[in-house]
Amino acid sequence: MAAVAALIPAMLGVTTATASAHTAHPAPKADAAVVTLTYDASQAGQWAGAISQGAQNWNAAVHNVRLEPATSPGSANFVYVATSGWPQTTLGPIVPGGRRGEVQLGQEAVDEGYAMTRITAHETGHILGLPDDYSGPCSELMSGHGPGPSCTNAKPSAAEAAQVDRNYAGDAAAPAPKRQQIVIDAWPAPALAGAH
Ligand SMILES: [Zn+2]
Repeated sequence: MAAVAALIPAMLGVTTATASAHTAHPAPKADAAVVTLTYDASQAGQWAGAISQGAQNWNAAVHNVRLEPATSPGSANFVYVATSGWPQTTLGPIVPGGRRGEVQLGQEAVDEGYAMTRITAHETGHILGLPDDYSGPCSELMSGHGPGPSCTNAKPSAAEAAQVDRNYAGDAAAPAPKRQQIVIDAWPAPALAGAH
């Protein structure tokens, strides 16, 4: 029994020694090393304003990657398309020279009352390699529908911006995932959101 009792404090000691090195924002890269990701919004119709505001919000928050409209649709690293369903997006990080990403901006989320700019900035977060965090607060983009339609925040939190900067911090940016993954975002109204 004495041996077992002695083990417990030792185990607790291990679990409390959590790493704290993951919160630091990486140093900005030299200008020449910033990754430019280009997008095509020519098939996104009424989402144009939300797309440009969402890109502006990301560009203001991150240092290692920059979102810019493509000079020609064919050259874009990712594309925004307006659809009638739920939003869905290729999970990045999308990198230049890799496979092309696609953001489907689904009208269904707008019909449920969610702000177009928040939807667009959230889906763009997936392009930049962020997963969903539906239980997060309104101050996060990746909380998506979680805080409900009254949450119109369209700017990433400091932690989200730091994660994106880490995703694009390497010399050749982050390696793209080997298998293509699509994130489908239902943005249900609150009554529906609480049902599961
Ligand atoms: Zn999502």
